[in-house]
Amino acid sequence: MSRPKLVGITGGIGSGKTTICKIFEVLGVKVYYADDRAKSLMETNQKVIQEVKSIFGTEAYSGGKLNRAHISKMAFGNKELLSELNQIVHPAVKEDFENWVEKNSKEEILIKEAALLIEAGSYKELDSLLLVVADEKTRISRILKRDPQRTEESVKKIISEQLSDEEKILLASFVIDNSGNVSLIKQAVEIHSKLIVA
Ligand code: ATP
Repeated sequence: MSRPKLVGITGGIGSGKTTICKIFEVLGVKVYYADDRAKSLMETNQKVIQEVKSIFGTEAYSGGKLNRAHISKMAFGNKELLSELNQIVHPAVKEDFENWVEKNSKEEILIKEAALLIEAGSYKELDSLLLVVADEKTRISRILKRDPQRTEESVKKIISEQLSDEEKILLASFVIDNSGNVSLIKQAVEIHSKLIVA
């Protein structure tokens, strides 16, 4: 029996991953938003909740909601704690994604969107990888417009912590240019038709 082709969509902060995924959704492709699911699992998956509490204390939750300020304060600059948190959340997302794929096993294509698909190594479990790129200046100005609470410095810091596009391109099956020079819809439609026949 044929199984869906699993396609990853990744890119640095503000590159336009979600925007391109919305276009794929219009084309009828189902999308798994891994970063959103991770946030949701931290508040709904009992195993995750227990493990987070065992590291960050019961103050990690308040009224069933994740106390992000508390976690950020504890994890700030503490790579070990951050890595422990990842080791709790990553397997839960992996399992949740596998269940989602199983539930959608009749689809021709399924997309997994995540900012750190490459950094976390989970791209290896996918059939092809789509990288969204845009120049740094454009990304920063789009993020500051979308998230006015952020500062230019904080966005630059996140960019410096992610792999560069040059490094990521080496692993990409397709690259989407979202600098505003080429139509995003046209690029998505072309890639979609290639994925369907491949
Ligand atoms: P994040 O890394 O924060 O998850 P992302 O890569 O998913 O971001 P989007 O949220 O899709 O990026 O895009 C960032 C912002 O830029 C959004 O407000 C979006 O509407 C806007 N944007 C994306 N692409 C374009 C474009 N081609 N032209 C104008 N605005 C755009």
